[in-house]
Amino acid sequence: MSVKLKIAIQKSGRLHEDSVKLLRECGIDLHNGWNKLKTEASNFPMEIYFLRDDDIPQYVEDRVADIGIVGKNLILEKEKHVQIVEQLEFGKCRLSLAIPKDQNYTSIQDFQHKRIATSYPHILSTYLQQHQVQAEIHEISGSVEIAPSIGLADAICDLVDSGSTLFMNGLREVETILHSNAVLISSMQLNSEVQDLLEQLRFRIQAVKKAQHNKYILLNAPNDKLPEIIKLLPGMKSPTILPLAESGWSSVHAVINENDFWHIIESLKKHGAQGILVVPIEKMIV
Ligand code: ATP
Ligand code: ZN
Repeated sequence: MSVKLKIAIQKSGRLHEDSVKLLRECGIDLHNGWNKLKTEASNFPMEIYFLRDDDIPQYVEDRVADIGIVGKNLILEKEKHVQIVEQLEFGKCRLSLAIPKDQNYTSIQDFQHKRIATSYPHILSTYLQQHQVQAEIHEISGSVEIAPSIGLADAICDLVDSGSTLFMNGLREVETILHSNAVLISSMQLNSEVQDLLEQLRFRIQAVKKAQHNKYILLNAPNDKLPEIIKLLPGMKSPTILPLAESGWSSVHAVINENDFWHIIESLKKHGAQGILVVPIEKMIV
């Protein structure tokens, strides 16, 4: 039997769709069968397991799966013997402390001797220790945000993104403990054939990530303005210049980073660029 890269992803929940989307963007087609525990890719030697996110680090540590996609928060909490091999661009959130919104707050010392409900007891106790705060940690596995209103705790430590869940439960965020995103994890030791497959996947993931941060830009410019315009466009090597049918004009093509985007567009316009087109890039291999 030929070797396959076994990947564990969340069966349903916040990371499921983005994990599947990432595999698709990497050109990996999954057979249908989302309700199953396991499926295969039709065009890459890969087996996909659908699991609860909490179980994924253990499966990877035990090498039942070679790799997995989970939140960094889970890796820091569970301290399994696995390694993070790629940071991913989705599942962004933060782990924060929140208190009832009508309560005053001055500093982390306000948590002294308080009861805090959380699903992240390990990260929380480390954080409290660092700040010399002694508090009672109540570990609960879900719906942490209702703990203060039912009298189970004075405060909570939970994952937040927009903060709307906190707000709806009469809470406000007062301290951020860590920022998290989805990560690709791997077993500590893979045999060399599986390792090669992992490297192929990582190469594709990096190409997708780079493409998302860059745009392809096309514009027309009068030839006498080209030297200044070229200076504004770093590109992958240098911009491509093609003559237009209309004499004295050229078409300039380049790749620019999203962080520089608006700034560069404005300067280009000022320097005489016209008909600027900005196109998303699907994959980028440098
Ligand atoms: P499962 O049924 O697989 O155990 P779950 O309910 O424990 O799912 P989700 O709520 O789907 O988990 O969250 C999975 C991951 O998504 C989290 O561990 C975290 O990394 C990330 N995440 C992103 N934004 C948020 C958020 N606002 N709240 C909670 N998790 C978030
Ligand atoms: Zn979970």
